[in-house]
Amino acid sequence: MSLINEHYLKLTKSYLFADVAKKVNAYKATHPKADVINLGIGDVTRPLCPAVVEAMQTAAAEMGTPEGFRGYGPEQGYAFLREAIVKNDYLPRGVHLDASEIFVNDGAKGDTGNIGELVRWDNSIGVTDPTYPVYIESNVMCGRAGTLDGGRWSNVTYLRCTEENNFTPRLPDHRVDLIYLCSPNNPTGTALTKDELRKWVAYAAKNDALIFYDAAYEAFIRDPSLPHSIYEIKGAKKVAVEFRSYSKTAGFTGVRCGYTVVPRELTASSMDGTKRYPLNEMWLRRLSTKSNGTSYISQRAAEAVYSPEGKAQVKETIDRYLDNAATMKAALKRLGLKAYGGDNSPYLWVKIPGEAGSLKFFERMLYGAQVVCTPGAGFGPGGEGYVRLSSFAGKAACEEAMRRIGAWMAR
Ligand SMILES: *Cc1c(COP(=O)(O)O)cnc(C)c1O
Repeated sequence: MSLINEHYLKLTKSYLFADVAKKVNAYKATHPKADVINLGIGDVTRPLCPAVVEAMQTAAAEMGTPEGFRGYGPEQGYAFLREAIVKNDYLPRGVHLDASEIFVNDGAKGDTGNIGELVRWDNSIGVTDPTYPVYIESNVMCGRAGTLDGGRWSNVTYLRCTEENNFTPRLPDHRVDLIYLCSPNNPTGTALTKDELRKWVAYAAKNDALIFYDAAYEAFIRDPSLPHSIYEIKGAKKVAVEFRSYSKTAGFTGVRCGYTVVPRELTASSMDGTKRYPLNEMWLRRLSTKSNGTSYISQRAAEAVYSPEGKAQVKETIDRYLDNAATMKAALKRLGLKAYGGDNSPYLWVKIPGEAGSLKFFERMLYGAQVVCTPGAGFGPGGEGYVRLSSFAGKAACEEAMRRIGAWMAR
């Protein structure tokens, strides 16, 4: 008899985002003439920049020649890309990494979900709340999150990010073994300062905890005082894995390429506490068993992001999203709404006026303004009371959406 992994059964019930999509589709079906503006998207919309397209075309042409053809590449990624990462993403920030500490992948989501394979199922976890759902759900799948009780997982410590603490999670008052941090944050759009990040690195060092640091939105940081990498904090290489992605940086959500940094100094303990093991070797071991890497064409595309043209073009695209975010934030403030984030992030985290729950508010805004937002409750219990607006729509759509929200609120 084949027996299923019963942990999966715990997941199925509360998938709010599917519910949201269903409600949007139902609205469109019953209002075929309505022009719905989608500010709920967590996907980029602007096309790939010319430098990237050119690199992909060149790589594709190369693959069609006997000399240029490539089969399986190195599991960890081609050296040309890993070296470009070390040189462009880290060295200028004073972070010295070796190419052997970089693991190229087909996007960050997979690795953020899979990294937990390196540690025992019964480690305790701390997750910022609200959060990108992958961190918790991947832990549910292996039983590490425990059981769901009143909207909360029994083995998860929720690190609340609220208006009162500027969406900066406080250190837990008890030990947690694994900590998931995301900065700039999805969904709150806020970023951790160096001082805040220092506290987490110190906590991890003191408690022998691991930090899984998701920096998928680092390219949106414009405030020069904010850290782009956790390794800008002294001692972080001993306690943290970092995830990066070209998805939001360079519009690679459909191309697929990202990378994970597992420093050589990073270790975790054996069960009896007598030995420490390097996670870099374990991650490489896992990768060589389970993956054959990401395509040569995607990796050449990623490399092109670091060319002088690529850097300028990617920055211009992100500036446009940030410009949308600034326009929206100002408009929401004029309407008397409290909007957070958006300065170093494509997301605005908007406080719902009145008592409506976030799913209800989402529905009212859809019917009243024909604007789609993402209900905060989809990001965990701490997301209730808020909705997320994304700046990935076009400029005109963002402006029109603000006009409509204004008119709807005035009614
Ligand atoms: C979009 C996103 C990613 C990137 O996912 P990819 O698999 O690289 O496309 C990672 N983390 C967060 C929080 C995200 O929002």
